[in-house]
Amino acid sequence: MKQFRILVTGGAGFLGSHLCERLVNEGHEVVCLDNYFTGRKRNIAHLLGRSNFELLRHDITIPLFLEMDQIYNLACPASPVHYQYNPVKTIKTSVMGAINVLGLAKRVHARILQASTSEVYGDPSEHPQTEAYWGNVNPIGQRSCYDEGKRVAETLFSDYHRQNKVAIRIVRIFNTYGPRMHPHDGRVVSNFIIQALSGEPITLYGDGSQTRSFCYVDDLIEGIVRMMNTEDFIGPVNLGNPHEFTIRELAEKVCSMTGSTGAIVYKPLPQDDPRQRQPDIRLAKARLGWRPRVELDEGLRKTIAYFRENRD
Ligand code: NAD
Ligand code: UDP
Repeated sequence: MKQFRILVTGGAGFLGSHLCERLVNEGHEVVCLDNYFTGRKRNIAHLLGRSNFELLRHDITIPLFLEMDQIYNLACPASPVHYQYNPVKTIKTSVMGAINVLGLAKRVHARILQASTSEVYGDPSEHPQTEAYWGNVNPIGQRSCYDEGKRVAETLFSDYHRQNKVAIRIVRIFNTYGPRMHPHDGRVVSNFIIQALSGEPITLYGDGSQTRSFCYVDDLIEGIVRMMNTEDFIGPVNLGNPHEFTIRELAEKVCSMTGSTGAIVYKPLPQDDPRQRQPDIRLAKARLGWRPRVELDEGLRKTIAYFRENRD
């Protein structure tokens, strides 16, 4: 396999750390860039002794120069709790961060992949969501700093491609879970598992009838890497597991798998919380030969085992 110099922004985060691990194991020269807002050194501590791994504390809103062959742009807080903590910073990270990494890619002729999101579809009026759907996004709500920031980033990637011939790739990631999720970032899988393991009631927002489709991290990383290394296809492409569950079903599964009492406390549904979400992955199947392999029960088992040892 050809060896590349690869930059992973947001490399100390949940997805970034799994991606760095995969790329280091394949023998590439990997630079992990992070400002540690939601990422943690412990996520990549096991890679620190590897001669082909480097760590760079840097904020992606500030330009940088590095000779690279490939750039994976993952830097951005991903959970509603974290991206709403400082919404102005979130949109700066998406927009200024995209401008900075795209400028770098243009200058050094690197191929660059954007970690976009199913949130570009907003609260979708088409179901399941195909890449051709333009979305239903509130431009002024609490989630907008993330959703609109990611939409502008897709626009920037597309324009750098049209205007400057930058070799871009765009993946739209649907809800992904697994070991190394931040235990306190408020996402539903980590929240439910930690609550269940701590003997606390499960916090169900709304009546739990809203749906999500959960992809295990290993499947997602495989899809991202395939997309980066595919020729003549820039995306956007949906990556996610099409098996859709209600949030109530997820709560019940987590309770039965952890042996928790199953007590539930109801909380209000957050503003603009999408009612349903399921990726149409026909494009990823056709162009990348990719489909998820790990079903929810198996992925939850691995994630629960991780959180039993890593609850803080
Ligand atoms: P995460 O919060 O664990 O990782 C994000 C990383 O980016 C963290 O390490 C954080 O410290 C870093 N970061 C944030 N702002 C930064 C800045 N200004 N400069 C440098 N580093 C910065 O989240 P994740 O789940 O690993 O998500 C990674 C990417 O994938 C994000 O771009 C996210 O939007 C996207 N994504 C994730 C999911 C999912 O379900 N996990 C779904 C859709 C899209
Ligand atoms: N959710 C919930 N309880 C929690 C955390 C989340 O019921 O403790 C719900 C949330 O309202 C949403 C779904 O679970 O409908 C997924 O939430 P998450 O924040 O993980 O991701 P996103 O809304 O961005 O898909």
